[in-house]
Parts: sequence; structure tokens; C-alpha cells
Amino acid sequence: MFENLSDRLGGVFDRLTKQGALSEDDVRTALREVRVALLEADVSLPVARNFIKAVEKKATGAAVTKSVTPGQQVVKIVHDELIAVLKGDDEEPGTLRIDNAPAPILMVGLQGSGKTTTTAKLAKRLKERDRKKVLMASLDVNRPAAMEQLEILGKQIGVDTLPIVKGEDPVAIAKRAKTQASLGGYDVYMLDTAGRLHIDQDLIAQAAAVRDTVSPRETLLVVDGLTGQDAVNVAEEFDDKIGVSGVVLTRMDGDGRGGAALSMRAVTGKPIKFVGLGEKMDALETFEPDRVAGRILGMGDIVALVEKAQQTLEVEQAERMMKRFQKGQFNMNDLRMQLEQMMKMGGMEGMMSMMPGMGKMAKQMEGAGIDDSILRQQIALINSMTKKERANPQILQASRKKRIAKGAGLEVSDLNKLLKMQRQMGDMMKKMGKMGKGGMLKQAMS
Ligand code: GDP
Repeated sequence: MFENLSDRLGGVFDRLTKQGALSEDDVRTALREVRVALLEADVSLPVARNFIKAVEKKATGAAVTKSVTPGQQVVKIVHDELIAVLKGDDEEPGTLRIDNAPAPILMVGLQGSGKTTTTAKLAKRLKERDRKKVLMASLDVNRPAAMEQLEILGKQIGVDTLPIVKGEDPVAIAKRAKTQASLGGYDVYMLDTAGRLHIDQDLIAQAAAVRDTVSPRETLLVVDGLTGQDAVNVAEEFDDKIGVSGVVLTRMDGDGRGGAALSMRAVTGKPIKFVGLGEKMDALETFEPDRVAGRILGMGDIVALVEKAQQTLEVEQAERMMKRFQKGQFNMNDLRMQLEQMMKMGGMEGMMSMMPGMGKMAKQMEGAGIDDSILRQQIALINSMTKKERANPQILQASRKKRIAKGAGLEVSDLNKLLKMQRQMGDMMKKMGKMGKGGMLKQAMS
């Protein structure tokens, strides 16, 4: 679905990754080409611009690893940024809030966008994958053919449709669907609203009236992915007028330029939940930012390589640290790093549980009243020291101690506890380091 963009980017990065050393100019030239590729794929200008800016910033600040080339590093950064642009909220891709039965799903969109087809595809998916009992209803009173189309699709996929009653208005149909869904024990009822060729007052008023009648759990906007930037504009307008919870991009099987997918989230703030990939009832896929980013770049090997190298870098750093500990060097910078690590790993308990043989130390620290709020205070104390003090905590005399404690909003006694801890941990690290190459800590860290 992103062939053209993928080809263009592939060319740029093939050249980049083949070069041994990269200058800033090389990177800038490559990113200029990426920007052109994005624009040609119909990604909106501000989105493309922000994208390049973010990549440039990260490329400048990236930690350098020996085992990968700068070009490979840039590929990884572009990959991560693609995911960031595509990613919706933190929900699992493709999840719908349909817990309280019967949950109403409102389907909106322009005529010809693929709304009716998508309603049926989604109903089939809910029935088969999520084991939901689904009822579909067409509210398109202007086009009897549309109502019949949904009925035919329903029969085809084995999903019930609300019987058609001539002369009813959309709100009345919605009410009937709601009642029928409750009485019939349905988990979900889907309302396929009328589409128009353009967004007009009538269409919006009608959709809004239906929305107010059923309070949908999800309002899904169906837009034609082939229309590129227009799809994004349509989404903005629908969201503004009716409010949508997610987007379904159809016709992504075509040779469209894919830009709509890339701009949608950044411009509208709404996640793409699904993509339509054909006319068949099975041709609906969850939109997964990670996979899509991978597909656009087509450089999975390089991404994996850089990820591996980053892990190696962390291990190398840990090993360097261990060597220093063995020599009895353990200053406040080391302690801060340990404390921060503990916070990241879920506090004291989380960390100790990962280290064999550390149970005793965990108990001691517990006895000393160490928990996460204390971790934070300790980090604040260390932050309040000068560089020199952090490297050589033994120089801390009364006046320095007072200043540091005050800076962290704490007492000198708190600082004394921290100093004691630093000494104890230093001793312990030294002892553990001396337990030979296969020391416990090292084992736990590798
Ligand atoms: P509606 O007017 O929005 O309800 O649009 P329809 O559901 O009737 O779809 C219009 C046409 O688009 C139909 O011929 C569908 O088969 C086709 N269509 C819908 N979704 C897709 C898709 O994802 N890919 C392709 N290739 N065709 C689609």
C-alpha cells in the first residue's frame, strides 16, 4: 500500500547506508530527499516538515555505536519517527470500545468512500474474531438501494440487519435499532449513516441527530485513502462537526500514495483504526503503526541491527561501570545512575527481584525505609551537588552539606543517610566485583 513511497525511501537509504562515514551534509541531503518523497506521497507539508525536523534533531543527538554506520543509525531514527507519526493513542491497534452491550457504533463518511462495505467488513470481523453478536442498520433513507446493499451483505456474512421499514426517518431507525439490539441480546449495533458527495448541512445535522439519539461508543469515519490530502481534510471537518473516535482508510490496496495514512494522526489527532484492502468482506486489516512503518521503509534488517547495537552499547557501559566498581570507585554519579535505574525498573522491589542473591540487601534497604519517594529525594540531593562534589563525595563538610540539603528542600540528616548508603554500596560493589569474572552482579546484568 505504500509501494511508491517505500521505493523512494529505499533508494535514499540504500545510498546512505552504503557509505562508511557520513558528514552532516550527507544526512541533510538524504533528509531533503526524504522530505520530497513524503510530499510526493501527498503527506501534508507541515507534517513532512515536522517529521524531518524531529529526525534531524535525533540524528544529531544520537549515541554513537561503533558497530553500526551512521547511515544505519539514521534509518533507525526515521523508522522510529514513522511509528511516532502513525501511532494513535496507547490503545492496542484495532481495539474498539464496545464493552457495554449493546454498544452502538456510528459509521460516517462521504458517499462512495466505502462506508457500507466497511460496516459489513467490520461486522464480520467482530462476529468472527471477537465472537460478538452484531446487528447492522442502514439509515440511508434517501437511497433505498443502499439499504438493500447492507441487507445483502448481511446475508452474505451471516450478520443480522434491522428489517427495512419504508418511510422512517434516520432517528426513528436508530431508535428501533437500539431497542432491537437490547431485546435481541446483541453485543453491538452498527449504524450505517447516509453519505453525500460533499459534506453539507443536512448530512451533518442528520448524523448529529442520530449521534444524540444513541450516544455511540465509537464514531468511525470511513474515508477513501486514494484521495490523499483530501481524506485528511474530510476527517478534520467531520471531527469538527460530529466528533469521530477513529478513522478507517479504504482503498489502501490501490496504488495511492499513502500520504493520508501518514498525515491523518498528526493533523486530526485521530487514530487510524483499520484499513480497507479490497472489495472482499475479508479485506479489512488492523492498522498497526509498527508494521506499517516497517513496510514503508522496508529496512527491517537494519532496524534490528541498530536495536541490537544499542543493547550492546548498554552492556558495554555496564561493563565499564563494573570495572570501576571493582577498583572501589563508586561516587555519587554512579549512585544516581543506580537510583534512576531502580526507578525505571519498578523501584527497589522490582530491581532486587531481578538480581539473584540480592534479597538480603533488599531487606536491609527496606529496613532503612527506602521506597520510591525516597529514591526521588535521594536523586534530588545528588542533583543539588556540584560536579566536583558528585565525583568526590568525601569532600562534603558541614557548610557544603547544609547548602546541598537546602537545595533539595531536605535536612542534613537525609544527606548523611545518603552518604552512608553510597559508602555501603561502594563497599558491596567492590566485594561483589572481587568475586571473580562470574560475579553475581555481572551475571545479573548480562
Ligand atoms: P459507500 O457509498 O460509502 O457506502 O460506499 P460502498 O461501501 O458502497 O463502496 C463503494 C465501492 O468501493 C464498492 O464498489 C466497494 O466494493 C468499493 N470498496 C470499498 N472499500 C474498498 C477497499 O478497501 N478497496 C477497494 N479496492 N474497493 C473498496
